[in-house]
Amino acid sequence: MTSPYRLAGREENPGDLIVNIGGLKFGEADLIVIAGPCSVEGEETYMRTATAVKAAGAHMLRGGVFKPRTSPYSFQGLGRTGLSILAAAKRQTGLPVVTEVLDLRDLDAVAEVADLLQVGARNMQNFPLLKELGRAHKPVLLKRGLCATIEEWLLAAEYVLYAGNPQVILCERGQRQSKETTSCSLDIGAVAAVRELSRLPVVVDPSHAAGDRSLVTQLSRAAAAAGAHGLMVEVHENPEAALSDSHQSLHLDEFRALMSQLTTLDRKLA
Ligand code: PEP
Ligand code: MN
Repeated sequence: MTSPYRLAGREENPGDLIVNIGGLKFGEADLIVIAGPCSVEGEETYMRTATAVKAAGAHMLRGGVFKPRTSPYSFQGLGRTGLSILAAAKRQTGLPVVTEVLDLRDLDAVAEVADLLQVGARNMQNFPLLKELGRAHKPVLLKRGLCATIEEWLLAAEYVLYAGNPQVILCERGQRQSKETTSCSLDIGAVAAVRELSRLPVVVDPSHAAGDRSLVTQLSRAAAAAGAHGLMVEVHENPEAALSDSHQSLHLDEFRALMSQLTTLDRKLA
């Protein structure tokens, strides 16, 4: 065996992996957009945002209910109450949802509602969690660690695949830098590299990479150009009042503008 990626790699498995979530096919040519607030903050605000991002063309909803926060004093998410809100939003919009599983003990409850189980950057190498997700019957969105190598990331995906879950989508979300120009640096090279090395679909989260909403549109365009199969974007109806990731969340009108830019991506030579 030459490649360390027996299941995630291309060597032993010809063809791209297509992850089908309610008819949305991650891994095909079309760009899939996941949108919603960083955290689910309440039923009414979540419903308004979900309805608005759907109207703007989003294909899938996001919203964290178990939040990995740097400070223990920050909003930690609504927990299981948030899961009920996500379930209601799915019913109302008909869109699938992704949310983070922070702790193994919540896996069954999250998997009952979520169509895609997010592993956060901070949990990318939580091996017991990865092994347990291998036994889940829902696809996994595996975020790249804050300063994980491509090899570490693909081997983390390999854990889930090897434990028996064949459906993994990778997510590049920016890498920690010593100088904080952007919150993290979006590793566009890694997007191209994992497309070459691996058969798994790859999604880019421009919001956590940018750390600032003014940069999200250009990073989204770059991700699309580099071959990302999808984008996951934070959007809030009132970002200034958001309980998490306020600076990087797009206003609804900015999200609508992003969606229309994504329809006109090709550039001509000078
Ligand atoms: C998130 O998607 O809100 C999140 C916490 O992401 P990450 O794990 O990439 O920091
Ligand atoms: Mn966030």
